[in-house]
Amino acid sequence: MYDVKEIRKDFPILEREVYNRPLVYLDNGATTQKPRCVVEAMTEEYYNVNANVHRGVHFLSQQATELHEAAREKVRAFLNARSSSEIIFTRGTTESINLVASCFGEAFMREGDEVILSEMEHHANIVSWQLLQKRKGIKLRVIPVNDRGELMMDEYERLFTNRTRIVSITHVSNVLGTVNPVHRLVDIAHAYNVPVLVDGAQSAPHFAVDVQDIGCDFFAFSGHKVYGPTGIGVLWGREEWLDRIPPYMGGGEMIGHVSFEGTTFNVLPFKFEAGTPDYVAATGLARALDYITDLGMDAIHTHEQALVDYALERLRTLSGLHVLGDAVERDAVISFLMDGIHPFDMGTLLDRLGIAVRTGHHCAQPLMHRFGIEGTVRASFGLYNTKEEVDVLIEAIERVAKMF
Ligand code: PMP
Repeated sequence: MYDVKEIRKDFPILEREVYNRPLVYLDNGATTQKPRCVVEAMTEEYYNVNANVHRGVHFLSQQATELHEAAREKVRAFLNARSSSEIIFTRGTTESINLVASCFGEAFMREGDEVILSEMEHHANIVSWQLLQKRKGIKLRVIPVNDRGELMMDEYERLFTNRTRIVSITHVSNVLGTVNPVHRLVDIAHAYNVPVLVDGAQSAPHFAVDVQDIGCDFFAFSGHKVYGPTGIGVLWGREEWLDRIPPYMGGGEMIGHVSFEGTTFNVLPFKFEAGTPDYVAATGLARALDYITDLGMDAIHTHEQALVDYALERLRTLSGLHVLGDAVERDAVISFLMDGIHPFDMGTLLDRLGIAVRTGHHCAQPLMHRFGIEGTVRASFGLYNTKEEVDVLIEAIERVAKMF
């Protein structure tokens, strides 16, 4: 039984008011709120365990190391990865994608080689490849998006050439909510012997992800979007690839032996984790993953799908309101525009009514360009949102519309 009222009690921030109104937090696509247990796990580690990991023989360092490696194992189980040595802690999805673009690009791409992306990518999955483009002269090939906000799969197949080296694609659009057919995307790429990176920033929080089932080669997500702390994220990669690509940063922890004549590198995953990691955040992330898996990813998904269906149904009754995208497979994000009202004005006025939504281009300017707009208002749902909050949103939009 999914008891959202009980669940909300785990999130202290949901009790607060803004502008003397109960907070309605619908900006979960940007970041999620934290349950008490996540913050407590981190406080507990700082107060009782804190010591640098992997380095000390002393008691606290060993305990901190055990917590850190247990967190890695939690992430492995969450993604159903084969081995925890395939789990690399990063600062977030952005760093994970940059790591792949930089290191895979270094090892396997040269001038004229191509990466396939899509028109609906977050800037993190565009600009990191453009940096490589500047460095090495690679080319970006782009899968177009149809009017419903879905990838044009026929066009995708046509983009493959003998210079295609990697496909890097978002699992769920942070603007349209479209869930991309990652299994098919991967199968097609693998038929051309091309590996696939999946940006899971907007999928990992909402439904169960199994990287072995998807069949992809790299998968990235952010801790702060799965009810965990900021400053930590994950890159999962197949050992076969991670073994073959060079380290990202140099420093402590990532080495085997250092001398001025030459340095050897540590084994996976440490080869990619230079310097002191945010081991406390890793503990927080592990606690967050426990929290959502205890609730059940399927139960979370069912709850959120019901909210999105209800919100879409109600939004579509509002005259002058347009929902961007109409994908068959969609997740907990809704972007919309209201005739005659700039998204920024809508967002500001909704804020005054206690509702936190996001406005703007959502770090997806090429997608905005595709739809001929500058921005949208985006409501994105999380595991603690309620039908009543959707009603508050709808009434608030109606109220704003009347003011114009
Ligand atoms: N990709 C997608 C699809 C996203 O939604 C986001 C966050 N908005 C990112 C990447 C970047 O995530 P982070 O800022 O946590 O690195």
